[in-house]
Amino acid sequence: MNTDTDFPFYLTAINWHAEEPFLQFRVQGQESTQLMSANELELRFRVAAGRDRQCIGTVDRSEDGSTSVQCDSPAVSARQCERCQTKDNIAAANMHQAHRRGRDAIGKAMAAYLTHPHRLYVAIFRDGSTKVGTTRGLSGGNRLVEQGAWYARYVAQADDGFFVRELEDSITEKLGIRQAVDTRKKFAGHLQPLLDQELENRLTQLANEIKKFLTEEVGAKGSLLDDRWSNPRIEDQIWADLVSYPAVINQGAHEFTIKSMVGRLAACNRAGFIENFLLDLQPLLTHPLETGDFEIDDFIMQDSLF
Ligand SMILES: [Zn+2]
Repeated sequence: MNTDTDFPFYLTAINWHAEEPFLQFRVQGQESTQLMSANELELRFRVAAGRDRQCIGTVDRSEDGSTSVQCDSPAVSARQCERCQTKDNIAAANMHQAHRRGRDAIGKAMAAYLTHPHRLYVAIFRDGSTKVGTTRGLSGGNRLVEQGAWYARYVAQADDGFFVRELEDSITEKLGIRQAVDTRKKFAGHLQPLLDQELENRLTQLANEIKKFLTEEVGAKGSLLDDRWSNPRIEDQIWADLVSYPAVINQGAHEFTIKSMVGRLAACNRAGFIENFLLDLQPLLTHPLETGDFEIDDFIMQDSLF
């Protein structure tokens, strides 16, 4: 990030396009954002003292998909100002309850967004956690890479986002499969992963159970699928040997190179260290960052047990 300016810059989003990761930065006061490919990205920054955290803005959903909306207010929650948080909370509630409340109750733009084919998937993470979820459109795996799934199976497609959520909820109610996985579990899974074969076996078993259940439920508003997906990073050796990044990312001064990403988690290197570090980038959102000529904080590595 080159910032010839007195203003701090902010990480405003971690985005995926065609299953590749990008970091979106914004310099305070500037209209435009800068999208940088995350792979091989060298970052050197420190968290600027005495400046407000800044809201990352919101996402608008319409017939054409999602677009981000910038905001210049200070952040009060982990990511947003009060106004944007409220807007997102209402949008999220509408999206999750759309099928219960009906099209008329949720606003035209959101209804148009949902009136589009959706797929239902079941995903497994490296610690063995599983979830069901839905994604808009009938191609691409961005939703899965964005969440950091390791393997997944698309099990059904539905005519729209209303019906697909009915299916999702009934799977959660009847089969007890959750709709979210905590990032701490995803993180732990990369440090001590189950074997890939074991994960595939568990997923196959679960997908079969779901498909059996869906045979009765899908009816005329959708159809069953059996499409396999795996994270493109499975063959990437860096994910086989990671240690937790030994510093707090939203404090102090840092320098590292991102080698690869799974969801919002980055595998990175630092000059002078042979380890590959695993780092959650999300806590960096909203914090004012600056470049310049300053010392990088030392790592305090735990002594090896051997
Ligand atoms: Zn805001």
